[in-house]
Amino acid sequence: MTDLNTQAANARPLTGLQTVMGRKPRLLLVDDQVLNIQALHLAFASDCQVFMATSGEQALQLCLERQPDLVLMDVEMPDLSGLAVCQRMQADQRMRNIPVIFVTAHSDPEAEMRGLDAGAVDFIAKPFSPAVVRARVRTHLTVKAQSDLLRELAFVDGLTGVNNRRYFDERLAGEFQRAKRNGGSLCLLMVDVDHFKLYNDTYGHLAGDDCLRRVAECLQGRLRRPPDVICRYGGEEFACILPDTELAGGAFVAGKILTAVQRLGIVHKDAPAQLLTVSIGVSGIYPAMGGEPADLLALADRQLYETKAQGRNQVSAMAFGPTPEELPSGAP
Ligand code: GH3
Ligand code: MG
Ligand code: MG
Ligand code: MG
Repeated sequence: MTDLNTQAANARPLTGLQTVMGRKPRLLLVDDQVLNIQALHLAFASDCQVFMATSGEQALQLCLERQPDLVLMDVEMPDLSGLAVCQRMQADQRMRNIPVIFVTAHSDPEAEMRGLDAGAVDFIAKPFSPAVVRARVRTHLTVKAQSDLLRELAFVDGLTGVNNRRYFDERLAGEFQRAKRNGGSLCLLMVDVDHFKLYNDTYGHLAGDDCLRRVAECLQGRLRRPPDVICRYGGEEFACILPDTELAGGAFVAGKILTAVQRLGIVHKDAPAQLLTVSIGVSGIYPAMGGEPADLLALADRQLYETKAQGRNQVSAMAFGPTPEELPSGAP
């Protein structure tokens, strides 16, 4: 034990990773033998947040709840084997991105192939040297940090830093399904900057870009509930998804946004209001009552078109389909 302790203490710390991740890396140790877990725990307790599981079921539960950055897992466990856990993680979108390293006494090529086929990223043979385990873990945590960053960037708009269109499409589909299951409501705001072509023509595209950043930041500041999201839908259009929100609530938020953008006080001398303004189309839906994400989007778009036709710098809102109260009693 002294030997293990000394080796672990001498190993290079994982502090560089903490800087990249902005937090301690989360490590899950899985082994039905508590002694094996203890040996690994010694090697990582000082610079990782370490979780421990003594069965496959417990490991899956911790993966879901704690979202570890890396799992070190025994292959041989009663009930659910390490291989089976790894396969289940691969099949579940919520755990697919968590890398697994197998720690096993059976390190013949066939056993390794089975592990790699199940989705493991690496193998460590028992008995292990803590220094080697730390080195391997450092490598895999670095790769995980980099791929997390790439995944994140793939959903961010480069100009404004808010979520992008790809994120919007996925999130809207997800929230729609969730609301359908819960019988809840969902609201969508389409926000379009008024006379923005004219703004670019007057002040130049760089000033236009700056303006879009300020509007995005302003919208972000108006969304107060954690599940609310703002995305750049395209050009000078932003979309806000408000889960668990009824049409009246969405229209209220839209009104706040309208005022907040006016209060930015961005001068637009050639526009009728001589101020930068936005128009907002709002749509609301109870997905369990029918309809598709595309219906919600098309309706918000139509409402936006209405506001433009009626003079801009205003909100127009409409519900798609009935609310549960509007249905005759007894209807589904
Ligand atoms: P309306 O009030 O009817 O919305 O008029 P508008 O001029 O805002 O609408 P239109 O769709 O005619 O023009 C949108 C303009 O948005 C065109 C383009 O110059 C500008 N735009 C789109 N994307 C960007 C961008 O990334 N940066 C800048 N600076 N301008 C952009
Ligand atoms: Mg075992
Ligand atoms: Mg537009
Ligand atoms: Mg516009």
